[in-house]
Amino acid sequence: MSTGALPNRVDLRKLATHGTQVDARISLKTLPRVAQAVLSEEAEIGVELKFGRDEQGLYVIEGDVNGTVDMTCQRCMQAVAVELSSHFNLGVVWDDEGAKALPSYLEPLVASAEPFDLHVLVEDELLLSLPFSPYHDTDVCQGGEFQQQQSAVAVADEAPKRENPFAVLEQLKRKD
Ligand SMILES: [Zn+2]
Repeated sequence: MSTGALPNRVDLRKLATHGTQVDARISLKTLPRVAQAVLSEEAEIGVELKFGRDEQGLYVIEGDVNGTVDMTCQRCMQAVAVELSSHFNLGVVWDDEGAKALPSYLEPLVASAEPFDLHVLVEDELLLSLPFSPYHDTDVCQGGEFQQQQSAVAVADEAPKRENPFAVLEQLKRKD
């Protein structure tokens, strides 16, 4: 399957068994949770997904999502174009037990609702890649003096670390 649109009712096991690849360009309008988090829903998102089974028989998805969205610069409060790009390796599981059993190089994708909507996956990945504090580059920002004071902070904020949500769960469990 290689289409211009992103399928919204899929059987993840079937896609994996067939080694399906999905290549799509979709409007941000089809991703309401991301559209809410940015200034304009007028953006195109590129999506590449490869479904398969690995040597352990796990259902895996290797993917890339990318696009440019408008956010509010936290220095000058004007719009700033932010490039989003995320590469990910997911292990498809059907419950928390399955998620815990995954090797650490796979992030769990819990497919609780089937048929599965691939837009949900793309939204989750894009939301994770949104910068917490977007800024213009210092040479184009209108933020003035404030800009200089804050530039050190901006550098620190630019590459937010992705955390595996299950790592937190693990820690909670151990405290019991
Ligand atoms: Zn700015």
